[in-house]
Amino acid sequence: MSRYISKRHDKLSAYVPGEQPQDKKYVKLNTNESPFPPSPFATRLARQAAGNLNLYCDPESTVLASVAAETFGVDKDEMIFTNGSDEVLDFAFSAFCDEETPALFPDITYGFYPVFATRNGVPYKEFPLRADLTVDINDYIGAKGTVFIANPNAPTGISLPLSEIEKIVKSDSNRVVVVDEAYVDFGGESALPLIKKHDNLLVTRTFSKSRSLAGGRLGVGFANKALIADLKKIKYSFNPYNVNSMTAAAGVGALLDKEYFDANVKSIIAVRQDTVRALLALGFTCTSSDANFLFAKHEKLSGEALYLALKEKGVLVRYFDKDRLKEYVRITVGIREQMQVLIEKLAEIIGEKV
Ligand code: PMP
Repeated sequence: MSRYISKRHDKLSAYVPGEQPQDKKYVKLNTNESPFPPSPFATRLARQAAGNLNLYCDPESTVLASVAAETFGVDKDEMIFTNGSDEVLDFAFSAFCDEETPALFPDITYGFYPVFATRNGVPYKEFPLRADLTVDINDYIGAKGTVFIANPNAPTGISLPLSEIEKIVKSDSNRVVVVDEAYVDFGGESALPLIKKHDNLLVTRTFSKSRSLAGGRLGVGFANKALIADLKKIKYSFNPYNVNSMTAAAGVGALLDKEYFDANVKSIIAVRQDTVRALLALGFTCTSSDANFLFAKHEKLSGEALYLALKEKGVLVRYFDKDRLKEYVRITVGIREQMQVLIEKLAEIIGEKV
């Protein structure tokens, strides 16, 4: 860091993304990407859009907005598109938190939330998950501040029922509740229909997981149009062209190719179930995951030991050096063949080390 960095950012500790190794080929199960390529229709539309890259993109992503309005059953002014859902989350910290309105979220959740809060100069309070790693909604009922709940949560994969989410939203209509549904397509219950009922609810989704566009960077926020206008104020004060034309076109293709989406989600869920069974047979304990990843531990090996031994054998998973998470590894659910390699390697590791 140089001596010129602003005081505002001096103390910021940046988010550390999962490894994206460029040197060696791994069975890559560390960043919750889809193992499936984008829909061929999405790539065709993106290629066509590339021919117009001399022009700025449409700041409102109008075509994408029409298709998304139809797909999700919302009005165009109830959506904002962003550069990944990280960006809409960042906008929400900026728009809906301040000195008097701290961000509230669990102590174990998406690791970017504290970074967004700090970068936006807003205070935050973390509520510990229960011993079984579930969210206690009573922590948020009566607390003052903007609530951020990942549902399903990361890295546990555990989801809250919609009725519980609605209790938080209803408990105080004077504050905003943000429900981060990055993984909801793999088994959670979406709060999206509730945006018509509650004007203090923002639901965020991503195209990075179930729609195979992590590298395209496309996210979306859904809310009542006044909340969306607040978020757009931030967007237009930052970068009106946050979603480039190729990505917007790929998003259209990903939404219209419903068959491809459904088949991929179905496959991930089936492979997840089979992987859980295989992990249990090897002596692992897994949280009950509704996401495209598993959170697993083995009583004989730490998360770090598992991570290192798997890496040595060509399989990348993620572990977190944080209390209560240290014992676990987070394993992205890939295709069946990848998971077979994972289970074979884990069996070897357990045979060698336990
Ligand atoms: N929310 C959660 C809970 C996540 O795990 C991620 C992915 N790292 C995101 C949001 C952001 O994903 P993206 O910016 O790719 O949409």
